[in-house]
Amino acid sequence: MCKHILNVQAAIRAPCCKKWFDCAECHAEKEDHELAKTVEMAFLCKKCKKAFRKDMTRFEEADEFCPNCDNHFVVEAKTPQQVIEFEAEDARVDARGIRDERMQYLDTSDIDAFVDQLG
Ligand SMILES: [Zn+2]
Ligand SMILES: [Zn+2]
Ligand SMILES: [Zn+2]
Repeated sequence: MCKHILNVQAAIRAPCCKKWFDCAECHAEKEDHELAKTVEMAFLCKKCKKAFRKDMTRFEEADEFCPNCDNHFVVEAKTPQQVIEFEAEDARVDARGIRDERMQYLDTSDIDAFVDQLG
């Protein structure tokens, strides 16, 4: 597990330095060179601890599963950033709530004005 992708299911082998990393971000942090791109990516399944290769040019839905244990290793990454975004979304919901309260306030004042007119 790495701090960038909290639910990482497979490590990747960097083709440039031949080291294993949980994600490209980990590589960027530990190495001072760019992660090289490759058409044949090597993965290491976190579940069965077995390595396998995938042709990235023909990566299909069936390729999202570990060939050894069927672990679905291509998952939507849970990143700490997403957690922050989620909290921001909550704040927007709160803002909507405040606006609704104002609307309610306007509505009552309209009624008050109406009542005043009736005198
Ligand atoms: Zn590297
Ligand atoms: Zn990482
Ligand atoms: Zn596996």
